[in-house]
Amino acid sequence: MQQNKSMDSQSSLSEKLPRIPIGECILDLVVIGCGPAGLALAAESAKLGLNVGLIGPDLPFTNNYGVWEDEFIGLGLEGCIEHVWRDTIVYLDENDPILIGRAYGRVSRDLLHEELLRRCVESGVSYLSSKVERITEATNGNSLIECEGDIIVPCRLATVASGAASGKLLQYELGGPRVCVQTAYGVEVEVESIPYDPSLMVFMDYRDYAKHSAESVEAQYPTFLYVMPMSPTKVFFEETCLASREAMPFNLLKTKLMSRLKTMGVKITKVYEEEWSYIPVGGSLPNTEQKNLAFGAAASMVHPATGYSVVRSLSEAPNYAAAIAKILQQGRSKQMLDLGRYTTNISKQAWETLWPLERKRQTSILSLWLSTDRATGY
Ligand SMILES: Cc1cc2nc3c(=O)[nH]c(=O)nc-3n(C[C@H](O)[C@H](O)[C@H](O)COP(=O)(O)OP(=O)(O)OC[C@H]3O[C@@H](n4cnc5c(N)ncnc54)[C@H](O)[C@@H]3O)c2cc1C
Repeated sequence: MQQNKSMDSQSSLSEKLPRIPIGECILDLVVIGCGPAGLALAAESAKLGLNVGLIGPDLPFTNNYGVWEDEFIGLGLEGCIEHVWRDTIVYLDENDPILIGRAYGRVSRDLLHEELLRRCVESGVSYLSSKVERITEATNGNSLIECEGDIIVPCRLATVASGAASGKLLQYELGGPRVCVQTAYGVEVEVESIPYDPSLMVFMDYRDYAKHSAESVEAQYPTFLYVMPMSPTKVFFEETCLASREAMPFNLLKTKLMSRLKTMGVKITKVYEEEWSYIPVGGSLPNTEQKNLAFGAAASMVHPATGYSVVRSLSEAPNYAAAIAKILQQGRSKQMLDLGRYTTNISKQAWETLWPLERKRQTSILSLWLSTDRATGY
């Protein structure tokens, strides 16, 4: 579905970044994965003087990200927001909608991709378009990044930022809460008229328009409507199931959205694009004893209750890069990186920057709650 979106305006990484010089040097850091988290971390680490290689398929950003405007202003990324709503509204029932009092923005995936790539170019990141198959350790303690096509890239440290499905490259804590999933079906359309104030972003509309019986399959998955009115007639509607144990079937989400819109009297005159969203939420945290580091969704940075991670990744990239630079510097001065056991201990310092004990506790409680019958409506 995401492949059907128009992405021609995004630059290719291979055209703008120099190729990783394989066999010529040992990189300080390899970042695996070119999503928002990987691009941000690669740029911030290279800015600190590290020799950084980025490895991942050369793909455009396809998701429609939404952010609180103040958070993107704080990151100097306000130029990447394509539409801002002065306030955000939530409907829990027929009466008294709640105004959040916070402006919301829709991120231009093209501009965000361009800006993060520009930061990589400026800081001197090199790049290889490939998929990583495994990470092994050389006898001298260096990491060997084994890519498709038998290409091996040696480096002092590896950070996995390859998204939610990174289990083959990372170890996660055993016995943690089960993973749940946030599912959504979105559609950007032209309509005759929008039954909402176009100056407000509808964060959640939980009103039950269709009045399905409690036994119906639709009612088994509680969903809400997320609405971004782009103009008085152009709008992005997304039917969202915040969390369920089993993924809500996409055709059911679509049916639910269409029946909701019909009941509301919304007439679609043109479909611009559709979006399916599948976001694993909750589950185990990464094992923070392992040598290889992680970042973004791969490092369980997706908020268990909301499915958001992008702002957290972009905000934490400079600090995490500084922690990585510090441990690599320590390792160099003490010759520690020649010994695998020391490298493991050094990685722990970076893991603790990302997952200090207090944050681990908070996230574990949320994830545990999410995995209960009460949270997922079972
Ligand atoms: C439709 C949709 C909408 C979303 N909206 C929001 C939102 O509004 N706000 C928000 O905060 N979050 C949102 N999310 C959730 C989530 O936070 C995003 O998915 C976000 O993109 C995660 O960023 P990331 O860089 O960690 O991982 P990803 O964006 O998933 O990037 C991972 C990258 O790694 C690459 N990769 C995978 N395997 C390998 C491998 N073996 N070797 C090398 N590279 C590999 C992939 O090709 C990909 O480019 C949304 C998710 C979806 C699906």
